[in-house]
Amino acid sequence: MAKDLHIDSLVRENVRQLRPYASARDEYSGSASVFLDANENPIAAPLNRYPDPTQAALKEKVASLKGVKSGQLFLGNGSDEAIDLLFRIFCDPGKDQVITVDPTYGMYGVCADINAVERKAVLLNPDFSLDAERVVEAVNSRTKLIFLCSPNNPTSNSLDRNAMLRLVESVSCMVVVDEAYMDFSAQSSLLNELEGHPNLVVLQTFSKAWGLAGIRLGMAFAHPRIIGYLSSIKYPYNVNSLTMKRAMEAMDHAPATLKMIDVILEQRNWLAQRLKGFSFVEKVFPSDANFLLIRVQDPLKTYNYLMKQGIIVRDRSRVPLCEGCLRIT
Ligand SMILES: *Cc1c(COP(=O)(O)O)cnc(C)c1O
Repeated sequence: MAKDLHIDSLVRENVRQLRPYASARDEYSGSASVFLDANENPIAAPLNRYPDPTQAALKEKVASLKGVKSGQLFLGNGSDEAIDLLFRIFCDPGKDQVITVDPTYGMYGVCADINAVERKAVLLNPDFSLDAERVVEAVNSRTKLIFLCSPNNPTSNSLDRNAMLRLVESVSCMVVVDEAYMDFSAQSSLLNELEGHPNLVVLQTFSKAWGLAGIRLGMAFAHPRIIGYLSSIKYPYNVNSLTMKRAMEAMDHAPATLKMIDVILEQRNWLAQRLKGFSFVEKVFPSDANFLLIRVQDPLKTYNYLMKQGIIVRDRSRVPLCEGCLRIT
């Protein structure tokens, strides 16, 4: 396919025609020092000013850390914002369709419901591996987005890189690969595959390995054309000043994050070993993330017992392919 041009034909008509909100500060790029354009309070510095809607400084830093161009990067209020915006760019409510590969992260389905977009669920194989061909078979002319999550939540395994790429190359719709747990993974990111694959979107986040779930900062990496659409439909000030400042600081201390990841992986492996020693634990699934999926004899009983001890885990026992399973961070 003439791939670059093809992207535009997937985009909703109203979004393609959209003239985004512009502030006076979008129009200036110099060294002005008197700002009388945005009705701010001049006295209460420094949070009196609206944040940079283009997030230029933060983007530059993230892009250089990730080895991509600024133009390939969108920053949002968590990766959840990017997921919702992708629906609003590509999916006409009541008409278009998305595919999720289940069991997986619940937000894809919730966003589909909120946006009144039909969701087709294709199951992973029983060993939690991806059957790319089965996903391709489920695609039709109304399919706009396919969501893959790798490492996958809640199954904790990474999907096969080649299978994911084969899928990206076999379909003409967008393929969103959610790499929220990539920092914990032994497998390499699909970020370096963006170049030849304009229908690929990669999501990452500051919420997990970076330990910054509270600041709400997520990343979407994609073809500049898609980043343009994301930027034009987002709230102008979707990333606030405090978040930007804290994220900059975290990246200045990136080695501390790497050290935390080492500790978490070590603790995960320790916990996996200990859990295998309990008779009520039937299986500890191999994990490529910062959590474990375990199958137990009586999930509800275990869940309630832990709850009584003040320990909250995630009950996934009624999720297809995860029967009897709990997810433990
Ligand atoms: C935790 C998680 C996220 C993170 O979402 P944020 O909005 O960035 O906090 C994204 N995707 C998956 C699969 C997750 O488990």
